[in-house]
Amino acid sequence: MKPGEFRKHAHELVEWIADYLENKEKLAVKSQVKPGEIFSRLPDGPPPEAEAFEKIQKDFEEIIMPGMTHWQSPNFFAYFPANSSPPSVLAEMITATLGAQCMIWDTSPAAAELEEKMMIWLRDLIGLPDYFEGVIQDSASGASLAAIITAREKSSGFRINEQGFPGTPVLRVYCSEQAHSSIEKAVKISGIGKANLVKIPVRKDFSMDPVLFEEAVWDDIQKGYRPCCVVATVGTTGTTAVDPLREIGEVCSRNNIWFHVDAAMAGTALILPEYSWMIDGSEYIDSFLFNPHKWMFTNFDCTAFFIKDAGRLIRTFEILPEYLKTRTRGQVNDYRDWGIPLGRRFRALKLWYVMRSYGTVELRNKIRSHIEYAANLKKMILAEDDFEILAPVVINVVCFRYRPAGYSTERLNAVNEKLNHTLNDSGKIYLSHTIVNGDYALRMVTGQTDLTYAHVEKAWELIKTTAREITT
Ligand code: PLP
Repeated sequence: MKPGEFRKHAHELVEWIADYLENKEKLAVKSQVKPGEIFSRLPDGPPPEAEAFEKIQKDFEEIIMPGMTHWQSPNFFAYFPANSSPPSVLAEMITATLGAQCMIWDTSPAAAELEEKMMIWLRDLIGLPDYFEGVIQDSASGASLAAIITAREKSSGFRINEQGFPGTPVLRVYCSEQAHSSIEKAVKISGIGKANLVKIPVRKDFSMDPVLFEEAVWDDIQKGYRPCCVVATVGTTGTTAVDPLREIGEVCSRNNIWFHVDAAMAGTALILPEYSWMIDGSEYIDSFLFNPHKWMFTNFDCTAFFIKDAGRLIRTFEILPEYLKTRTRGQVNDYRDWGIPLGRRFRALKLWYVMRSYGTVELRNKIRSHIEYAANLKKMILAEDDFEILAPVVINVVCFRYRPAGYSTERLNAVNEKLNHTLNDSGKIYLSHTIVNGDYALRMVTGQTDLTYAHVEKAWELIKTTAREITT
């Protein structure tokens, strides 16, 4: 592609992007294609000769777009959001254009120093103590893996990295029954072994029971195990339950256990002073993560990972081959030593654009309004006799179900599953589900960048009418 052609197509593409952002709400939010449909429309191999951009773009619109689910649609209420925003998109264009590998300070000093500064901005915005240092990781899964491996190294006196496991007592990791599956994955990959992940039962509000946690630790010590790490969740995936950090932290402090906190989505609510209770006990935390790529208007991937003693993280991950030696080592942050991958995208740029474009006042306003929408949705649900709320609404997730009178539990589960599929197949809204105490629950998250209360009201009307229609 010659420079003139690039300029022309780039302009066309910006028009396409702006049109998409303006009209995304009108598209079927969940892709309606069948398995294999896209694959069968693609050729068996790459073209031998160059193809025109127009032709590629036409195929993109005709073949690829129907197979896309529109995560940026304000009718997207499923999972947790992966929200983006115009300033973030613009910054991503620059990042793609620069194409820099920001693995060490020398390979792009601005990337390293902007990242260091952005982590300070974020740390202060969410109210973590100022001794925390931060680094951007790809995902919450990757950051939790880095935390658990660091905890493993600390527990073994940094021996496992060097010599493997022989001679080390069996390590134990704890999390609640409601923790995200990424914790189990991290425990498996770290070599600690799934059998050594102890899932602590939860209380009525789905938060970890700290008394049972302490009992599990004592029990393990008695059996000769070495408690290594606990992962508390601030905002569980199912119902956004918040584990009691102070009580868990006190047990950690008494037993020398690494305290990692996964606040993947809910961490963004910490920018609101009224949500600071969620990290009461933060002085006990060793590592903490949240995802601006979920609820803080910043494109995936962008996980803010904070650590009390960065030296331990670096000691766990650093490796210094000849070709990566620099004259600045020791004076700067070489972020390749702060996690698993060597190569790193320039992810701090989009955070800078987002935080400056919104400003903290507007960021707080938006997050507050999302939380308010969830509270209002809860009220609307409670006002209907044939619907019920299934879990406390703590932040911006509402778990509920349709409950016509006289139905057995099995029949209610089947009806709600059908309701979920019918809504999603309509293309009008997208919800996901969870199981709450054995009941199939619809799960509606209010966190989309362009969400207004009108979208929530419209979605609720659709849910009510669809539910009543499918049971008549
Ligand atoms: N932790 C929690 C509590 C989550 O809800 C999720 C995903 O929704 C994750 C971790 C995994 O996030 P990621 O996709 O960034 O790995």
